[in-house]
Amino acid sequence: MPFSLSPDKRAAAHQLAAAFQPGQRVCLITHVNPDGDGLGSEAGLAHLLLARGVEVVVTNPTPTPPRFGFLFEDLPRVDRTAEAVKELRRADLIVVLDISDLGRLGMLSETVRTRGAPVLCIDHHVSAGELPAGARYIDSEAAATGELVFELAVANDWPLTQPAARGLYVAILTDTGGFRFSNTRPRTLRIAAELLEAGVDPEEIYLEVYARAPEGRPRLFAEALQTLVVEPEIGLAWVTVPPGAIERLGVSSDDLDGVVEFPRSIEGVRMALLFREVSQGRIKVSLRSVGDVDVAAFAKPFGGGGHTKAAGLALHGSLAEVQATVLAAARDYLGGNGGSPRHG
Ligand code: AMP
Ligand code: MN
Ligand code: MN
Repeated sequence: MPFSLSPDKRAAAHQLAAAFQPGQRVCLITHVNPDGDGLGSEAGLAHLLLARGVEVVVTNPTPTPPRFGFLFEDLPRVDRTAEAVKELRRADLIVVLDISDLGRLGMLSETVRTRGAPVLCIDHHVSAGELPAGARYIDSEAAATGELVFELAVANDWPLTQPAARGLYVAILTDTGGFRFSNTRPRTLRIAAELLEAGVDPEEIYLEVYARAPEGRPRLFAEALQTLVVEPEIGLAWVTVPPGAIERLGVSSDDLDGVVEFPRSIEGVRMALLFREVSQGRIKVSLRSVGDVDVAAFAKPFGGGGHTKAAGLALHGSLAEVQATVLAAARDYLGGNGGSPRHG
């Protein structure tokens, strides 16, 4: 079965594309602590729009992790708040990618809310949030927002250039964990195949994204994995980033990408968590699940969200307080009352 688009999707893609006019100023924005999907989708869409004579600036609320910098070599991008705010105030259109919620746009959410320009959105999250009005292209079955940008290009006959294809490939590669997670559909691989045909070199992308880590990254993994606790009776496992480790090792929170896969990889684990202090008194929790455990639903009462098998939340409190609260809720959620934990 070749790649195809439903009539509904085609209509939505046409409607979204109709908003772009040559000469317009368009800001692209993704969620705080951007990942490969948010950034790759932005880079892909930026190249597609530049080729159509649209003036594009990527304006993100927090900086780009160094390993994704190669996507933006020929693209205008600002991620310092004051400059991003200035760009957003001049924008004719704003496109929000890989998130549907103002609350996840950090320091830029207020400017996006009050700008008065249409706010378009391209996203695959299950948990919808609030955004100002504008065209939408949303599909929670898509493995990555990058798939949706690809669909936009196909539906509108926008030629897929090599630099655009590289961004979209990074988006899909990273959100599927290298085509391993359950969100990898036949369609995902068909799209990836078309991206390779458009000139993506998979090894080059692999080396940029996964093989240019600072030495501190494996050292950070080592320290975090030392903290592993497993409650085998209920299938719960978690790790904690030692406070201050990220700064001491000279890495960034992006370097934690993948740590939570280790507690998740243990036989019998149904829910895996990663705790870390992101700032004084603010704790972020990454959640992953196996099987039918829905971590997006688990995160919701805490104000978090994400996908069924990969979600997150952030709470105020000390590391110990947040751990106590979230672990108690996790034990409840998994339908057990704890059992005896197994420490490393
Ligand atoms: P992460 O654990 O940061 O890799 O995020 C996994 C998924 O959860 C992503 O889809 C995020 O968008 C989502 N997510 C992470 N943190 C939050 C949060 N505080 N609120 C809502 N969604 C989140
Ligand atoms: Mn994302
Ligand atoms: Mn995504």
